[in-house]
Amino acid sequence: MKALVLGAGVVGVAASWYLARAGVAVTVVERRPGAGLETSFANGGQISASHAEPWANPDTPAKALKWMGREDAPLVFRWRRRDPALWAWGLRFLTNCTTRRAAINTERTLRVALYSRARLKALRAETGIAYEQREAGILHVYRDPREFAHARQAAELMSALGLARRALTPDQCRDLEPALSTIHGELAGGLHSPDDESGDAHLFTARLAEMAAAQGVEFRWETNVLGLLGEAGRVAGVITDRGTLTADAYVLAAGSWSPLLARGLGLRLPIYPAKGYSATIPIADPAGAPTISITDDENKLVFSRLGERLRAAGTAELTGWDATLNDYRARLVLEKTKTLFPRAGGFERAELWAGLRPVTPDSVPLLGRTPYPNLWLDTGHGTLGWTMACGSGAALADLITGKTPEISMEGLGLERF
Ligand SMILES: Cc1cc2nc3c(=O)[nH]c(=O)nc-3n(C[C@H](O)[C@H](O)[C@H](O)COP(=O)(O)OP(=O)(O)OC[C@H]3O[C@@H](n4cnc5c(N)ncnc54)[C@H](O)[C@@H]3O)c2cc1C
Repeated sequence: MKALVLGAGVVGVAASWYLARAGVAVTVVERRPGAGLETSFANGGQISASHAEPWANPDTPAKALKWMGREDAPLVFRWRRRDPALWAWGLRFLTNCTTRRAAINTERTLRVALYSRARLKALRAETGIAYEQREAGILHVYRDPREFAHARQAAELMSALGLARRALTPDQCRDLEPALSTIHGELAGGLHSPDDESGDAHLFTARLAEMAAAQGVEFRWETNVLGLLGEAGRVAGVITDRGTLTADAYVLAAGSWSPLLARGLGLRLPIYPAKGYSATIPIADPAGAPTISITDDENKLVFSRLGERLRAAGTAELTGWDATLNDYRARLVLEKTKTLFPRAGGFERAELWAGLRPVTPDSVPLLGRTPYPNLWLDTGHGTLGWTMACGSGAALADLITGKTPEISMEGLGLERF
């Protein structure tokens, strides 16, 4: 069997790896000159099943109203009259902001994330792939006692679904991560997920692509997919700027650009880009930078130690398919990092970056079948694309090769919309 994977971000590369391991002849088509150069390039670095609570939850509409018009808000919607994609997405997002929907969506995301984390650990054990990884867990910290109480409730649901998490006092947070001593007095508490991890997603993607190439996967770099050809209810080929390519199976893994490619086939994928920012800071004083990966939920920021660098990332701006760096918002990430970890590093030498998360209205990825029997979806992973890449690729490879995936695919597909 021959498969064409469209997109060489962390999701497409992981799919190519598991497909090749299942005996499929894989070609990956990517417009950039290498793997992981778009959204997978400088993300927060977390493998965080503990981040499975969807953006759409009962508290979000009130928070979004409070943040409206504030340029420094963690989440900014840029409503424009001529952006029907954002209006349609926003409406679906709102319908998911109920307690019941949030619980369903948490279960679905956590199902993929836990499976994926296990597949990543197995991949590492099998291949020795190294990417500045740390296996010290992730610590979520809270200043507002109400936010902490809400997070504990969500954590209880996740614990019942198999995610190990324990609540910590401010002192315990500081004991676990001494670099938090600057804000220790402000903390209401923390939640530690010991089995979560962190690392450099770009390094991981590039190395996995090399390993996949060694397994026979062909990568067609600098090849732009212009459209998919539909014929008699099937995909008949992919038109690129270097000619038409054909295969038995087609995997759409083009991140935020997936809906643009699916549109030509009459498929409407409810994915909208949510721009986020990161700052990569060379560490000057190792004792002042965290060694354990931290999530500051209230500021929507995450921090991961990547060797000699500290990666700070987060915030979201819904402003269309425009990945240009808004200097003000990128510097907000840097300024917040300075407040939390003032001794961490050479802030003046920080590298700023922006990327487009492919977000669905319910924060659950789009995995599996489409009305075209030979077209498969592996996209819409939103804030957790790296966390869910290995599990998504492994489950999809099982589906495509006629095996039963190790997790239930209920509620993960396009049919839920
Ligand atoms: C600030 C920020 C922080 C984040 N932090 C985390 C985190 O800590 N943990 C986590 O798990 N996730 C995190 N994420 C999310 C994660 O980075 C994404 O979900 C993930 O990178 C998506 O991977 P992808 O392969 O689907 O998309 P991409 O990495 O964007 O890959 C899609 C690929 O498709 C290619 N492509 C698109 N259109 C075409 C075309 N027409 N022809 C050819 N090629 C095409 C693109 O060039 C690209 O290489 C974060 C994201 C951001 C922005």
